[in-house]
Amino acid sequence: MIDLHCHSRCSDGSDRPHDLPRLADLAGLSAIALTDHDTLSGLDDFLDQQNSVSARLLPGIELSCVFLGQDLHVLGLFVDHRDNLFRERVESLKLRRQRRNRQIFQNLRDMNINICQSDSPDGEDTIVTRSHIAEMLTNAGHGSTKKEAFQKYIGEGGLAYAPFEYLSPSEAFKWIKEAKGVPAVAHPGRFGHYMGGQFVWGPAMADLRGMGLEGIESYYSEHSAQETAYFLDLCDSLGAAPTGGSDYHGNGKPGCKLGTGWGDLRVPDEVLDKLMEKLPR
Ligand SMILES: [Zn+2]
Repeated sequence: MIDLHCHSRCSDGSDRPHDLPRLADLAGLSAIALTDHDTLSGLDDFLDQQNSVSARLLPGIELSCVFLGQDLHVLGLFVDHRDNLFRERVESLKLRRQRRNRQIFQNLRDMNINICQSDSPDGEDTIVTRSHIAEMLTNAGHGSTKKEAFQKYIGEGGLAYAPFEYLSPSEAFKWIKEAKGVPAVAHPGRFGHYMGGQFVWGPAMADLRGMGLEGIESYYSEHSAQETAYFLDLCDSLGAAPTGGSDYHGNGKPGCKLGTGWGDLRVPDEVLDKLMEKLPR
């Protein structure tokens, strides 16, 4: 069993990156990839643990893109996180996000909501996401749940919403491939729900494949058995490789476990071999 999608506290998870390998061993995983959102900062600490665990440790990233007007996450598996150009590209995303966060906090201040002392809360190695801001809002009494705070203030159409200069999927695929990684669409089922649940992936996924997509996260903690089967078929018909993971966030997503997700996820080992056949030569 493997898990090719998990997060550390370098993005919005709660575990330290160097603790994840040991947790992977405890979960009985033969391989684990760390795929923090829009950052490579946890990978050195994570990969440095290779000699003390039996699980195979793999580098990764999850890039936030927009496709057809909706959030689409693209996993970059096996990326060379030391590649200078790739590091610069990923760093440029942080600057975009910082600009957006500053704007959100400014908008909130304009509404007399002061949840952040500094101009921007982003730290050296951490990225502040809207999920963090929603939490700050609820902690300060603005909204009774994170979801409510998110929708009211910072979600699209929210009172303090600020747009983000998103990456396009084709740009993300290019960045990942040039860093010797394999690009895969993360949790495609979730995208379908954003699109009202009636979304038909076939032609859209074929378009993405034409842009350089190599993998589809068919096995995912929130996918139903039908969704998993559907995306595995889609991989077959498009010549893409399936991937899979839990999207573990530690306490950031309570109940979602490494490897097994919400309970019944099992990503077979052979998924990794098929994915590695997609490595750029
Ligand atoms: Zn994720």
